[in-house]
Amino acid sequence: MSRKIEKTDAEWRAQLSPTQYEVARQKGTERAFTGEYWNFWENGEYRCICCGTPLFDSEHKFDAGCGWPSFWTAAAPENVDEAEDRSHFMHRTEVLCRKCGAHLGHVFEDGPAPTGLRYCINSASIRFDPQRSSGGDD
Ligand SMILES: [Zn+2]
Repeated sequence: MSRKIEKTDAEWRAQLSPTQYEVARQKGTERAFTGEYWNFWENGEYRCICCGTPLFDSEHKFDAGCGWPSFWTAAAPENVDEAEDRSHFMHRTEVLCRKCGAHLGHVFEDGPAPTGLRYCINSASIRFDPQRSSGGDD
């Protein structure tokens, strides 16, 4: 059920745009205020750009003013992995898709209630879907 998805770099490169590949597979970061979703407020869910796994929901999205889509929780915490990231002389917590290992962004502890968390996610790593797959509870 939770079988991992593994593809070669060449396969990912063929599937993704250059920006998506750079961010999701090479742990890149899109420039602030350039992504598709930082100022996007439609109602729906956000899936992994690589494998389609539901990760975040518009219900948890908030305007952090940082130029990246921000969520105060993952919609499906079981689909999200966290890892220590000590690159760039910082100590951060990286957020990844558990299913395919895509780099999504980072989580910080300066978000709003009730979690106090801010999942700062690259637009390039996610794909908006107005149809919630889990759905049925509104
Ligand atoms: Zn994925």
